[in-house]
Amino acid sequence: MTTTYAVLSEGLSKRYGEVSALRGLDLAVPEGTVCGVLGPNGAGKTTAVRVLTTLLRPDAGSARVAGRDVVRDPAGVRERIAVTGQYASVDGDLTGAENLRLFAGLLRAPRGRADELLERFGLTEAAGRPARTYSGGMRRRLDLAASLLVRPRVLFLDEPTTGLDPHSRGEIWDAVRESASQGTTVLLTTQYLEEADQLADDIVLIDGGRAAHRGTPSELKAMLGSRAEVVVADPALLHAAAAVLDQLTGSVPTLDAERRTVGAVTTDITLTLPRIVREIDAAGVHIVDATLRPPTLDEVFLRLTERPDAPTPSPLRS
Ligand code: ATP
Repeated sequence: MTTTYAVLSEGLSKRYGEVSALRGLDLAVPEGTVCGVLGPNGAGKTTAVRVLTTLLRPDAGSARVAGRDVVRDPAGVRERIAVTGQYASVDGDLTGAENLRLFAGLLRAPRGRADELLERFGLTEAAGRPARTYSGGMRRRLDLAASLLVRPRVLFLDEPTTGLDPHSRGEIWDAVRESASQGTTVLLTTQYLEEADQLADDIVLIDGGRAAHRGTPSELKAMLGSRAEVVVADPALLHAAAAVLDQLTGSVPTLDAERRTVGAVTTDITLTLPRIVREIDAAGVHIVDATLRPPTLDEVFLRLTERPDAPTPSPLRS
């Protein structure tokens, strides 16, 4: 079976004067999937979204979105996409319902779709109030609802939940999942690693204007390996426990005498917690607590975007 890509870019480059925001960005997002685009501040995420949504022309490279070329057929791209950003584009003087009905008319959305979306986003009660009286979360929900009036082929979400409370964030997540399940491809930039972990089938980590790493959340986590941590009863035996952990994991353990803890990272997926406990116990060290856990996406992000000239203390080594 051949994969159809809803977003496909090759060598996308964009400069703002002296600043190279994109330096040969390659993206390939299969149709019907959710792609999480992550990257440190200034990595080029927003620029990439602006190029892919035809708001900015690339200096070099090419991109096709929903099968249309962003430079040669920007109108074709725009007909097939929806964009929702951090700054909601609703009209504050109109009520929630008027905002949606206005867009619904312009977009020739099916009858009743506006009311259905108001209901789905928990805005029915507030529907008669001017949108300027809405909270940030309500505005964002209204904005996303407007993007979904006509099911877009590709939905671009640029930091859709920045500043939202966990409840509103959950509602946006549900809406994204629902759109994806109905076949919409979603490209999502986010600062929240948990958001990407929850929603994305694939993650692309952009750094310095290019795709530095890509994979599923589990693949990215597996790149770093899991961390074993053992708390011993007697701090005098920390070194003995460390020697066993060293042998089992093949990596240099870190010791924390105050917490009576020794930890090490392993990429050996066959290494289990019972085995670690058994072998340390067999060396005559009494264990109080032990864990073996994959890194969080936050840890993956920190490690993969570490700057050699600005060393951030890595949580995996702390
Ligand atoms: P953030 O996470 O902070 O939103 P980002 O990954 O979205 O960052 P971009 O906004 O795409 O990054 O910016 C990429 C680079 O281009 C940065 O160095 C930024 O300072 C620069 N840049 C972005 N927009 C402009 C502009 N209009 N004029 C000049 N430089 C710009």
